[in-house]
Amino acid sequence: MGDKMDCIFCKIVNGEIPSYTLYEDDIVKVFLDVNPDTNGHTLIVPKKHYTDLFDIDDNTLMHIMNTAKKINQLLSDKLHTDGLTLVQNNGLKQEVKHFHLHLKPQYKNEGKLLSVEEIYKKING
Ligand code: 5GP
Ligand code: ZN
Repeated sequence: MGDKMDCIFCKIVNGEIPSYTLYEDDIVKVFLDVNPDTNGHTLIVPKKHYTDLFDIDDNTLMHIMNTAKKINQLLSDKLHTDGLTLVQNNGLKQEVKHFHLHLKPQYKNEGKLLSVEEIYKKING
């Protein structure tokens, strides 16, 4: 299991590592994935360190799903997305051992992949 001291998402949550943050509250931080699969690829991360789905508590999980609905509206409004794919890896395919939900927007007409900075500007412009 990952050591919280070395956890990259704990460092993003506490501001030690910068991120393009779209939203945060007491429970979650929401920021753009540094290596996006699609334009607007976003991660929802609980501020408290939970390793994975089998570690996280139900209230936090529900809050993350409700946050996904809110962020979908933002991505739809700002990036004109046509759909949303949720991915959440545990174990083998999980690179960062701090629970996170991937939000991958889908598009009828997929344009070229823009830089994370450009996407951030579109969302906050
Ligand atoms: P996993 O495979 O664990 O589900 O996905 C981890 C995700 O975290 C990857 O999509 C990767 O691009 C993203 N990621 C890793 N390090 C950082 C970082 O320092 N900042 C941001 N914004 N995303 C990161
Ligand atoms: Zn962590």
